[in-house]
Amino acid sequence: MRPNIWQNSFGLHSFSIAGDANFYLFKALNLLIDIGAWHPILASAQHIFLSHGHMDHIAGLFKLLSYKTSHKIQPPTIYAHPDMQPNIQTACQALEQLNGLKTWDYHWQNLIPETHFTIGNNRLLQAFPLTHHIHSNACLIWEQRKRLQERYKGLDTQQIQRLVLEGAEVNDQILIPIIFYSGDTESSVFAIPELFNAEICVLECTFWEPEYRSKANKFKHLHIMDILDVASQFNNKILILTHISERYSIEFITNTAQKLQDLLPRSVQLKLDLPTIITT
Ligand SMILES: [Zn+2]
Ligand SMILES: [Zn+2]
Repeated sequence: MRPNIWQNSFGLHSFSIAGDANFYLFKALNLLIDIGAWHPILASAQHIFLSHGHMDHIAGLFKLLSYKTSHKIQPPTIYAHPDMQPNIQTACQALEQLNGLKTWDYHWQNLIPETHFTIGNNRLLQAFPLTHHIHSNACLIWEQRKRLQERYKGLDTQQIQRLVLEGAEVNDQILIPIIFYSGDTESSVFAIPELFNAEICVLECTFWEPEYRSKANKFKHLHIMDILDVASQFNNKILILTHISERYSIEFITNTAQKLQDLLPRSVQLKLDLPTIITT
């Protein structure tokens, strides 16, 4: 397995095949979203967001916990739906016994809608409940930034410095959506406005052939036609289509994606998360 390495400020490394294995490591944020397979580059992740319990999204978690414990690496925090905790705990206990090793260390954080979790300097994690076969969450990362208050915008730098020295608060705190990951879902995910506005949107697109659209809906996955329907709304810097079924040839995917590229605003870079291809 060779993860794709994407050119962006977040250090994204991903690997994705629908139903087989999916992970998205944002190295610069110490953030790993889903872990459907193990790869040594994942060992450093401190914040692990699990969108849902399907094996193509969690299978590598146990290897990561074992690796971190045996190499005495700081235990990670796992963010996931509360219903997943007892089953993850039971699976860990069974595997710990099979291995005859000591208990694997991790912290657990239940995902609560509307709640912001701090994951490092000025970065906040928020989950959005999705529609899938089992409890599933999308992941949004916010960045806190400062913006000069409206009433001070006409002042020059020296005047602002003087106000700061006098103890005035001249900035507002604002939240900017920087990363959106859809997880496995159907088209109700498009009701989340940050999907369209985050700097990077990692969006599942499992099914691609036209005659499969109703089945995709039944299986609670996105179809490329669902995405074509909302193409004009995307305002991301980078839109990555991921979780692509391996039933399709790369040529078919690339040709079909061109239809989406033609409908997207020109400022949006469209990327395809195809397995084993390294994009530089
Ligand atoms: Zn999946
Ligand atoms: Zn799934």
